[in-house]
Amino acid sequence: MTIQAINPATDELIQSYDSMMVDEVNGIIEKANEAFLKWRRTSFKERGVLMKNAGRILTENKEKYARLMAMEMGKPIKEGRAEVTKCAGVCDYYANNAEFLIKPEHVMTEASKSYVAFQPIGLILAVMPWNFPFWQVFRFAAPALMAGNTGILKHASNVPGCALAIENVFIEAGFPEDTFRTLMIGSGMVEGVIENKLVKGVTLTGSTLAGKSVAKKAGELLKKSVLELGGSDAYIVLEDADLEEAVNICVFSRLINSGQSCIAAKRFIVVENVLSEFTELFVKKMKEAKMGDPLLEETGVGPQARRDLRDDLHRQVKESIEKGAKCLLGGYIPEGKGAFYPPTVLADVKKGMRAYDEELFGPVGAIIGVKNEEEAIKVANDTVFGLGGAIFTKDVNRGERLAAEEIESGSCFVNTFVRSDPRLPFGGIKESGYGRELSHYGIKEFLNIKTVYVK
Ligand code: NAP
Repeated sequence: MTIQAINPATDELIQSYDSMMVDEVNGIIEKANEAFLKWRRTSFKERGVLMKNAGRILTENKEKYARLMAMEMGKPIKEGRAEVTKCAGVCDYYANNAEFLIKPEHVMTEASKSYVAFQPIGLILAVMPWNFPFWQVFRFAAPALMAGNTGILKHASNVPGCALAIENVFIEAGFPEDTFRTLMIGSGMVEGVIENKLVKGVTLTGSTLAGKSVAKKAGELLKKSVLELGGSDAYIVLEDADLEEAVNICVFSRLINSGQSCIAAKRFIVVENVLSEFTELFVKKMKEAKMGDPLLEETGVGPQARRDLRDDLHRQVKESIEKGAKCLLGGYIPEGKGAFYPPTVLADVKKGMRAYDEELFGPVGAIIGVKNEEEAIKVANDTVFGLGGAIFTKDVNRGERLAAEEIESGSCFVNTFVRSDPRLPFGGIKESGYGRELSHYGIKEFLNIKTVYVK
């Protein structure tokens, strides 16, 4: 079997890679486990120096990696640079803070000494998606390696060049051999890797379907898993919102990464007395986005990452229109090469339409009108997903109350867009997955929380 990188802007084959055979994969797992046995005994200081090197290498090669992402999955070059900067940031964050974040917690008991210690559990498998091909991997790898675990990466099959480039960052940074390895395999081989006794946990970022399959295997073998899955984030626009600002943020969040972000704004839930004004401004702003070659500076929306994904998205749009949604912008497959899909706006979106019930993983905004705040909350929570969400209102106390108490999601932002930050936990509820990445919650996911009791 081969793994192929195809440029989604031109449909050209960039490079083919032979998929690894089972024996080769098992050999890498054995070596990565041996690496763990030594790595776990290294000091935070030693690890931190290497992790900072990784951050420096990322920064020094920002342009190269941004181009690689643009070529393999169509990310606009400006966004690629920002992604690399963010990766360097997460390396620095965990290099500086890991020791503090997982320092032993002393607890007063009848013992002379009792405390909670956090210990690495071993080799962790990361199954990662193509949409943020560097960030998703580094937000796993930086805490995992700083905590003393080792990692193997099964990256999405359309970004093999990114997978190898990331492996090389760790090699160049001076990490001991086999501390972090890339497996060049398709998804059919993931179960076998989870079954390997030396693999102690698995984290998957991707679709809910893939998450369920990995969780089932990990559960059967009682291995720890973390799942970061899909989302259909609701952006609620209340009658007292600063409409212009809300629209700017909504459009920005809908179009980031050409619409292919788990935490992109996907459903715009707007109360009726500002609905027509919001819709008009939203369409106007979506129209301004420039679609084109991801390597050009002025491009705001690149191609979708693969033609099949673009075609799936178009089917969701078409079937929603057939059920009564109004297409106010876009909604067609452009002629010519590449997996392009234009910024699209669907209005009058209702329950029972795919645009309401499913995740739209592309530059398609679904506008849902509601009577009032109460209905807005009901609609926002009327989804199988629970990743992020946002609320727009000039009354920040009202926004905060709704965000903290009413919205069913792993995060909820007020008057701004949902984003990840190494200092804050990131993850979802419901079918958006379980477990957390980033912050002290993330680094502890693959650690043994051990009670030590000395009489
Ligand atoms: P995907 O098709 O699920 O692929 C993700 C990864 O899982 C790839 O490495 C893929 O390998 C692998 N995979 C697919 N099916 C599998 C299976 N049955 N068993 C084991 N591994 C399997 O997802 P995607 O299309 O790349 O990414 C889009 C989805 O990811 C969206 O739903 C998005 O919301 C979600 N996402 C979530 C987050 C988050 O943090 N919550 C972040 C980013 C993306 P192959 O490429 O070889 O198939």
